[in-house]
Amino acid sequence: MIKRRDIRALTKTQLREFFVEKGDKEFRGNQVYEWLWVKSAHSFEDMTNISKETRQMLEENFVINHIEVDLMQRSADGTVKNAVRLHDGLIVESVLIPTESRTTACVSSQVGCSLDCSFCATAQLKKMRNLNPDEIYDQVAAINKESLLYYNHKLSNIVFMGMGEPLMNYNNVLKAIEKITSEEGLGISPKRITVSTSGIPKMIKKLADDEVKFNLAVSLHSAIDEVRNQIMPFTKDFPLQDLKEALEYWYAKTSNRVSYEYVIWDGINDSKDAIMALVKFCKYVPCKVNLIEYNPIGDPNFQQANPQVISDYISILEMNDIIVNVRRSRGKDIDAACGQLANKKS
Ligand code: SAH
Repeated sequence: MIKRRDIRALTKTQLREFFVEKGDKEFRGNQVYEWLWVKSAHSFEDMTNISKETRQMLEENFVINHIEVDLMQRSADGTVKNAVRLHDGLIVESVLIPTESRTTACVSSQVGCSLDCSFCATAQLKKMRNLNPDEIYDQVAAINKESLLYYNHKLSNIVFMGMGEPLMNYNNVLKAIEKITSEEGLGISPKRITVSTSGIPKMIKKLADDEVKFNLAVSLHSAIDEVRNQIMPFTKDFPLQDLKEALEYWYAKTSNRVSYEYVIWDGINDSKDAIMALVKFCKYVPCKVNLIEYNPIGDPNFQQANPQVISDYISILEMNDIIVNVRRSRGKDIDAACGQLANKKS
């Protein structure tokens, strides 16, 4: 028996060519493509405008690898977390975050994570594998359906802030975004998509060279190398000077403001020096700072800084004309908040 290929790994052109080779019409490729990507068909049986013979032929040649939402949990604040089972049984998580004006999908790019940020629950999982473009796309499509079901409107924003480091799965993330933004996919504008990275300078430059249209967020957490190296050990290979240069390169090519994700911890980055280093870093390229509430993961070394320090940060940043947003945690009761995604059933 021939090994059946994953039909969703084929581009539209390849699908059209496949049908021509089989002596059929090119547009049959378009029809099947639409079933796969617009109508999210899970089986060839679903493709009702395709003849029975053709469906059988497809069945003999291909499989449709689809994710399944294994467990869906809803938080008291309306946040929804999906534990998603992949075709090989591995699990990733994605989250739907509703606010009054929008619904945001937070999606994973890898199973586990190869980076080692000491404050993040996903880091404890280690990296198992990269997600394929269709596995990333499917998470978004599933959340879009839930957004329609629970909130009566389409998904409005997407953040790559789930499990994994998106820039370590560069090609697949970009392919998924291409599909998400295309009219044949979900037609979501790249301006409403944010890719968050722990800060890998070489890959940030690559994004700039590829002239991507989506937004970039960098998990900074400290603008002092020694501190950053301690809490994000992998950054020993990526000093802040390299990150700065990469961000300058990004801004020169894209004219797109960068967001810095920042958690303030007691005794780690709550000093005046820490604030002033951040202010200095923020002067390099146009940016905004998102102060994220810390979501404890059981390590006593990490405690949210005291509220007075947080307001000092805010006022000093604002005094220096830096835009600051304070991000309150969402979905904490179901372990759906930043840094809590760890395949734990709460
Ligand atoms: N690897 C990428 C994508 C993950 S995004 C990145 O680091 O940007 C997840 C965000 O949540 C990052 O900004 C991360 O630094 C932050 N985070 C991780 N653990 C956290 C925690 N326990 N509490 C609050 N934020 C956390």
